[in-house]
Amino acid sequence: MSLDDRAEELASDLGVDKAEVKSDLENLVSYSVPIDEAVQSLRRKYGDGGGGGGSAPSEKDIGDVTTDDSSVSLTARVLTVGKRSIQTQGEQQDIFEGELADETGTLSYTAWTDFGLSAGDTVQVGNAGVREWDGEPELNLGESTSLSFLDDELDVPYEVGGGATLHELQSGDRGVTVEVAVEEVERRTIDGREGETDILSGVLGDESGRLPFTAWEPHEAIENGDPVRIENAYVREYRGVPEVNVSEYSTVTPLDRDIEVGEDATQVSIAEAIAAGGMYDVELVGDVLAVRDGSGLIERCPECNRIVQNGQCRSHGDVEGEDDLRVKAILDDGTATVTVVLDRELTEDVYDGTLDDAKEQARDAMDKEVVAEDIRRNIVGFEYRVRGHFSVDDYGANCDATSFERTDDDPADRARALLEEVTA
Ligand SMILES: [Zn+2]
Repeated sequence: MSLDDRAEELASDLGVDKAEVKSDLENLVSYSVPIDEAVQSLRRKYGDGGGGGGSAPSEKDIGDVTTDDSSVSLTARVLTVGKRSIQTQGEQQDIFEGELADETGTLSYTAWTDFGLSAGDTVQVGNAGVREWDGEPELNLGESTSLSFLDDELDVPYEVGGGATLHELQSGDRGVTVEVAVEEVERRTIDGREGETDILSGVLGDESGRLPFTAWEPHEAIENGDPVRIENAYVREYRGVPEVNVSEYSTVTPLDRDIEVGEDATQVSIAEAIAAGGMYDVELVGDVLAVRDGSGLIERCPECNRIVQNGQCRSHGDVEGEDDLRVKAILDDGTATVTVVLDRELTEDVYDGTLDDAKEQARDAMDKEVVAEDIRRNIVGFEYRVRGHFSVDDYGANCDATSFERTDDDPADRARALLEEVTA
């Protein structure tokens, strides 16, 4: 539906001038407000109570709440409560986020005032705003929202408390609880809002897999590398993959049991990993279609590690590049393609030689391209099992490989087998 059609529909719903609605819509869209959200906010601006009529929002089942609602009232069980501090208009503000549920479904919420919510509470919520977030409705509990606690516990078919395995976590989850082993941890000093501050970063693991984390305060138990229970963490996307964030409001307690960290990466299709917007430590199986330009013997900027072309770094200008090896291979598993990036070590394996061998070969041939040519010959047309970190950005899908192994089942054999079947 075009913007013009939306404006027409909205104008007739609200009984206002179409030209006025259209210019408002165009204005919002020009500020990158998604069209559905723009329509919602205009409905509010022109005083539509939602659903085209009444002023008081009606009591709804969570399963029936849609992004077309502007505000709703409902009765729900609080599944999770996460506290977070954000900066709005130059001021620090505490917000509370999590999930509510009833028998019909779950709904994320953000509370802009402290209602004293705890996981497990049953609450009656009046006049909560509905906004669209990532295509899904989300509740806004603000100053115009009424909230009361009910004694009768609402039974819901969902787990109260936010316990999850690392594999289940997705970007956007709040108030989550995990029991994990600290697989890697390092302390770093960053420039924070209030000057230099120390944070921890690394990798967490549990039975289901691994995820990177950032702890914005150096919790001792995490730094010691002990198994820990982390409550009230949130998950956000960082460089294309979900990352567990441990904030000043998170609780970290040492566990007195060991966590068995799963050794196998989850095998996924490339299409699945793209749809998820990135995944940490996954396994893909597909055919190498091509080796992209910028593979083989390359030079990196000594300052920033970026690729140097013709002696020029994009950030640092004229630099003396440092030699390195890498491969950017296009992998196809029938569902989609991804660019698999191999570091020096994995490249040396597929090149079947060291960096020094590559430099010597290039010198003899007076052409660096011979190295990439050899790699091409060695891997294009074969099926590989790839383990690594999958990310998606504006330039496409990438997988930073941690292992890259040819499967026994190579396509040439398969083609021959097929041919034999056909001609038999
Ligand atoms: Zn540079």
